[in-house]
Amino acid sequence: MHPDKAGRRPPSRVAIFSDVHSNWEALEAVLEDIGQQRVSRMICLGDTVGYAANPRECLERVLGLGCPVLKGNHDEWVAEQDEFHGINPMAEAGFVFSRAALNEPLRRQLVSLPLTHRDGKTQFVHASLDAPEEWHYVDCTSEARMHFEKQSQPLCFCGHTHVPAMIWQQEAFSPVHARDGVGCLDLPKAGKCLVNVGSVGQPRDENPDACYVIHDVGKRQVEFRRIPYDVEKTVKKIRAARLPSFTGKRLLQGV
Ligand code: ZN
Repeated sequence: MHPDKAGRRPPSRVAIFSDVHSNWEALEAVLEDIGQQRVSRMICLGDTVGYAANPRECLERVLGLGCPVLKGNHDEWVAEQDEFHGINPMAEAGFVFSRAALNEPLRRQLVSLPLTHRDGKTQFVHASLDAPEEWHYVDCTSEARMHFEKQSQPLCFCGHTHVPAMIWQQEAFSPVHARDGVGCLDLPKAGKCLVNVGSVGQPRDENPDACYVIHDVGKRQVEFRRIPYDVEKTVKKIRAARLPSFTGKRLLQGV
């Protein structure tokens, strides 16, 4: 963003997105929207591959943005594992497909992505700051407490559950609060806050539109943006790639 005549830079607006999961149409729709939102920075919280039919295209596009890109569990497994035991068959089919679609240099890039990122007083992680490499789901009070114990800064952004939400704790040992990530929300004035930015490529909150967040640093607000895209086209590609039919069906329902 450009400085004004007095040389001041406007307070930054940061676009944060996660869990693209090889969904090219959703990714393009989100990037087009970001392009119209006067953001100064972007960050991707991981799980760019897995599930849908365009892993290579999505990964190359995201890496080409030149912004920080974190590693998600799907990224790690696609890049590093040959066999997938004890994983649900739908996720496994996505791993196998993504792995075959990526060449060795892309796999190496996936492996080398960081698990966390920090920008001033804001932290970023794919799943939870409580052992980021163990991919805990912050979807209950006990997991949120464990996460907040490790969150050193007032604000953190995550993905992983595919459900947009704002979770906060006034002070250590006080109750954990949560609300759905919908519309524009003011950040809490005290304590620690964790914002789940939802998923670009496979939303699971019964809203099929792609989801991402804009953090308006000056206004101390987060905006959950929902972006419609050509879901039918993505589903057709999933079918043509002979990926499990539910991988496509769930996109139509947002589950
Ligand atoms: Zn994911």
